[in-house]
Amino acid sequence: MLRFFVAMTVLLISTASFASPVQRLAEAVRIQTISYQERERIDYAQFQRLNDYLRVSYPLVFARLQVETVSDYSLLLRWPGSDDSLKPILFTAHTDVVPVEPGTEDDWAHPAFAGVVADGRIYGRGTLDDKLGVMGLLEAAEQLLAEGFVPRRGIVFAFGHDEEISGEQGAASLAARMRELDLHFEWMVDEGGMLLSDNPLLPDRPMAMVNVAEKGYLTITLVATGEGGHSSNPPRISTIGRLSNALARIEANPFEPRLVGPVEAMFETIAPYVGQPERFVFNNLWLTGGIVASRMDDERLTLPFVRTTTALTMINAGVKENVVPQRAEAKVNFRLLPGDTAEGVVEYIREVINDPQVTISYDPWENVPPISDHQAAGFQVISEAVTAVYPEAVVTPSLLTATTDTRHYIGLSDNQYRFHGVMMSAGQASSIHGTNEFIDVRSYEKSILIAREMLRRGAR
Ligand SMILES: [Zn+2]
Repeated sequence: MLRFFVAMTVLLISTASFASPVQRLAEAVRIQTISYQERERIDYAQFQRLNDYLRVSYPLVFARLQVETVSDYSLLLRWPGSDDSLKPILFTAHTDVVPVEPGTEDDWAHPAFAGVVADGRIYGRGTLDDKLGVMGLLEAAEQLLAEGFVPRRGIVFAFGHDEEISGEQGAASLAARMRELDLHFEWMVDEGGMLLSDNPLLPDRPMAMVNVAEKGYLTITLVATGEGGHSSNPPRISTIGRLSNALARIEANPFEPRLVGPVEAMFETIAPYVGQPERFVFNNLWLTGGIVASRMDDERLTLPFVRTTTALTMINAGVKENVVPQRAEAKVNFRLLPGDTAEGVVEYIREVINDPQVTISYDPWENVPPISDHQAAGFQVISEAVTAVYPEAVVTPSLLTATTDTRHYIGLSDNQYRFHGVMMSAGQASSIHGTNEFIDVRSYEKSILIAREMLRRGAR
């Protein structure tokens, strides 16, 4: 039995190490580490399987780095540097993925969890978000270890297992553990930025968006209460009518568009690479900023960069067609531009609604990471890593319009950046959390090269 076990282990290890990075990513996709909002639905055995798979796939990493499992399934890997006086650097990613929306399974070109490699692509849920991050960093570290690389500056990897449902167990616990270890980082890189191949402003060059800030998050709950009763004798204003009125006002009074620092920095960075009149416009944002903001506001794709967005997302009232409910409730989700506060948004919404019979409550998202410095050393390292692999790329700071685990790491690092070196088109980016998520094989291979360069140059 023992011999059989040893033989199996050897076989597992050898098949893992003979596989290519592409095959390993495909295999990681097959392990269904799905996060569900209802945590009792989560199959944690899959998370254990993935961690076991990482261990056999990256033997040098798991033998030479200090490995800790935090909160059962999240991983903390520490690679000590040779110079203790230097602050370490932190690389983060997450192992969980979102489910496939029921009813859309057949819309995929290849099943979401089959890990099919075809047409120069790896298909599947998690290829872009965010197994490429975890696997790409580990591939890079394994290669560097095999080459005998010794970092001067310490390197830490932190892989959370519940980013898609808040990161409260994964990233939050990893951050707590790092505080306990008294770690403080020169800079860190999380997911949330990439190379865009088809930016209309830069038709001939890929644009690497290294996000230095992300938007805040706020959900407001509106409740209208009032007289209910039989629908044969209705009140003049129903709770549903009152609530609908409030919601219509909210939607009709969006926040004003404006350019914030990271977006201005993006335009200033690309200015030298565009023709006139754009170059003039981007070089003189003090004069043209208002026009640029309102242009971006006209397009659904660019609107989130220039505006605190308002999204009516839930509504609930009534239990029977012939009963007027006494209570109607709705939720509105806002994504805040840097500089806007939850209190400010709520104040504005209160004025817009102007109805004391609609009560407002909210759960502010406490931790919005501050804007990081795009002139600091970490940004420079990322920028050099990108251009070492894509010499034609323009590397710009930008604003992430979604949220990441990054907020859990506030205070641990002087600067927080968001970037994985994968190239994609704008259309492909919309497959994240959607249908037909895939990564180009070549792009994945290059993202590993970028990760290598970030580790190597960052730890110098
Ligand atoms: Zn993600």
